[in-house]
Amino acid sequence: MKQPCPIDTTQMSKAYDPHAVETLLYEWWEKQGYFKPEIAPPDARPFVIAMPPPNVTGELHMGHAITTFIEDLMIRYHRMQGRAALWVPGTDHAGIATQLQVERMLAREGLSRQQIGREEFLRRTWEWKEKYGGRIQLQLRRMGASCDWDRERFTLDEGLSRAVRECFVRLYEKGLIYRGEYLVNWSPGLQTAVSDLEVEYREEEATLYYFKYPIAGARLEDGPGVGYIPVATVRPETILGDTAVAVHPDDERYRHLIGKTCLVPILNRPIPVIHDTYVSMDFGTGALKITPGHDPNDFEIGQRHGLPIINVFNPDVTMNENAGPYAGLDRYECRRRLWADMEAAGLTIKTEKYVTQIPHSQRGGEVVEPMLSTQWFVRMKPLAEAGLTAVRDRRIVIIPERFTKVYYNWLENIRDWCISRQLWWGHRIPVWYCQECGQMIAARVDPTTCTQCGSTRLEQDPDVLDTWFSSGLWPFSTLGWPDDTPDLRRFYPTDVMETGYDILFFWVARMIMQGLEMTGQVPFRVVYLHGLVRDAQGRKMSKTAGNVIDPLEMIERYGTDALRFSLLTGTTPGNDINLSEERIVAGRNFANKIWNMVRFVVGHLRQHPVEFPEDVTQLPLALADRWILSRHHEVIATVTRLIEAYQFGEAGRQLYEFMWGELADWYIEMAKIPLTGQDEQARDTTLRVLVYILERCLRLLHPYMPFVTEAAWQHLPHRGDALIIARWPTPGARDEEAETMMQLVMEVIRAIRNARTEYNVEVGRHIPAVIVAGEKAALFRSQADILIQLAHLDAEQLDIVAELEAKPQQALALVVSGVEVYLPLAGMIDLEAERVRLSKELEKVQEQLARSERTLSNPNFVNKAPPEVVEKERAKMTALQEQAGKLRERLHVLTGEM
Ligand SMILES: [Zn+2]
Repeated sequence: MKQPCPIDTTQMSKAYDPHAVETLLYEWWEKQGYFKPEIAPPDARPFVIAMPPPNVTGELHMGHAITTFIEDLMIRYHRMQGRAALWVPGTDHAGIATQLQVERMLAREGLSRQQIGREEFLRRTWEWKEKYGGRIQLQLRRMGASCDWDRERFTLDEGLSRAVRECFVRLYEKGLIYRGEYLVNWSPGLQTAVSDLEVEYREEEATLYYFKYPIAGARLEDGPGVGYIPVATVRPETILGDTAVAVHPDDERYRHLIGKTCLVPILNRPIPVIHDTYVSMDFGTGALKITPGHDPNDFEIGQRHGLPIINVFNPDVTMNENAGPYAGLDRYECRRRLWADMEAAGLTIKTEKYVTQIPHSQRGGEVVEPMLSTQWFVRMKPLAEAGLTAVRDRRIVIIPERFTKVYYNWLENIRDWCISRQLWWGHRIPVWYCQECGQMIAARVDPTTCTQCGSTRLEQDPDVLDTWFSSGLWPFSTLGWPDDTPDLRRFYPTDVMETGYDILFFWVARMIMQGLEMTGQVPFRVVYLHGLVRDAQGRKMSKTAGNVIDPLEMIERYGTDALRFSLLTGTTPGNDINLSEERIVAGRNFANKIWNMVRFVVGHLRQHPVEFPEDVTQLPLALADRWILSRHHEVIATVTRLIEAYQFGEAGRQLYEFMWGELADWYIEMAKIPLTGQDEQARDTTLRVLVYILERCLRLLHPYMPFVTEAAWQHLPHRGDALIIARWPTPGARDEEAETMMQLVMEVIRAIRNARTEYNVEVGRHIPAVIVAGEKAALFRSQADILIQLAHLDAEQLDIVAELEAKPQQALALVVSGVEVYLPLAGMIDLEAERVRLSKELEKVQEQLARSERTLSNPNFVNKAPPEVVEKERAKMTALQEQAGKLRERLHVLTGEM
């Protein structure tokens, strides 16, 4: 049902109050169906963005705010361009983050997930999601996000779960998903593999332990290279999992040892000495211990040399049976005891402090351990090839361009993707194992019997999929894939994927690869990457640094539009944004300025109503009207071109400059003359021009500041029900003649204003002036009212002439683009007082000048002082000479004497 806009247009508050209109307007827009693509005609070309789904656990931060604002800007702009604009919202189930929240909640009740079991745990997690998962939606609404809430999705909802299953089984059937042993980042606290994204490297001081790798059959006393090989490590407990010692093949110190056998300290397990060019001869001792089970580089070396892999940790990183006498100990306790035992056995050399990068689990905080485990993987090479081609063919364009290289580089060096997680909250891996015959079944529908032996004893894989597996399907799963839905047919591929540059690989690249593989089409045509929001000094915002600016707090304080405008005009593609509260205050001031401009016009309209002007070109326009209309058309063209080129920040800044710098500061000041004058036709024309330009400026500004523009627009004469669905304006013809003429008049006004400031003329004082304008005299005579009004001239004492016989005495002379302006000083200041002041100042300068000249004529000074001191004195003298010259000139003007 259509409802009228809830804004009360019978009165307009003195100041703009964001809190009075934001919620009101948002609810009205939504109820009217304006956020839906169906508001456009059925044959309209779609414009589609899939919103990067925020974590369901999320609290809004500036990163979300900038994402939301840029996407909403694009959606609102294209909606106004007549496209069927669709912005699909949704949230991500955020596997680890959500599971941790619920586990913490259980811990407060003295429970663990293992105690309550999988089913009960999932029930509680859903309960948690229902209770808290809606916060992010409320926050998005407050930011003005005009997304289609009827199409909202959740990565764990039924449709998306089916999409995930379809994708998994297809890849499995194609042989692109396999199960294998691999080194993963193991989080001991969470007891799961975590992705590279969830590992945080912190620079820390560690201890580097130097020790002796004894050579079998030799004596330690015979020294390095004979009795032992010196090796260093920061993790001595991993010595227990070593399966080789590696040296460089060209290293004179150890070359003769290649092929010999070393003994693992304490365990005395024999391992080979191998050679590998990966070893750097000049680093450390020049020899490496190789632990394929607990170090990614060692794992690679191990693969090259066919070394066995020994895992020494249990899942909770206590030592396992492979650690011999240390089995059962915590990893750090093991480190201490092993080192003590090695010391006693004479195997240690020294320890030293060493600053290094230590990997921590981002969620749990504990040190992550590279560990070998059986996981599910996606074979990435074939998928990456398609992803590379799509960008090389420019079927997908990345903005800014420079990230294309980064994208290529990542995909060309891609490793297989570990997709299994040892969690409960997520998409469970759709693979069943037959307990009778060991058959492995991947299925779209839960199987009840074994495909090989018919047994019903099937068990599903306990792990779930990496969250990014489901978010990689986001652009099409949200539109109904794998079903062939009307939405999928109409709105896929989407148009723009907009996100921070920091998740280009983790997410964007995967969407491209999964999209191409599953749908045969690119999931979007443009990738737009924005920068990170930093503080005013360019530092990363963090809780520890205490420099976090909370978007909701800012919205509360200054209104949504203020925050939107400050963030949007701070952006250039791919570059970081430095945000300060002052910028947001400036945004708030701009919102107020707009309100006041509209309020000014509305005030006059109450006395002299005019209809909405569809066209103003037929009106009897004054020069000022022609000028501002021409400038307005230019701004429409520029803003449109910049938005189309993704230069949202520059487009906003240009619009701001026009609205404040030209429309408010100049045209409205000029308009006050006809608005308060007696000429009815002139007043009517001015009002129509004002309404025409302001209404169209509100349209241009709407994607940046949706609330204040809609509220103000409702007060102005307009066509249609709402600004949000008004058409984007198209530029009319430029009037270059009017622009040139008006520019000249404005330059003269500016020059007079500057002179007034220089001479400290009181603001209210109307001063006399003589303008000698040659062939432009007629122009200036026609604009006399504007000159008088804006330069505060005395109408009785304004002379505009083509030529002048003699220059006026005792007058300030200004020359502006060939136009001479004389301002008689008697009209501006007290002549005698000024003469005295200038004379005194000249006297003072002359004294200093004389001193300087004496110094420089003294040969002792010139020859003996350091050259830079002499140079400085010369510069000082020159400056004083100039100053004296200027003062004499001013005195000359003042007294009329030479
Ligand atoms: Zn079976």
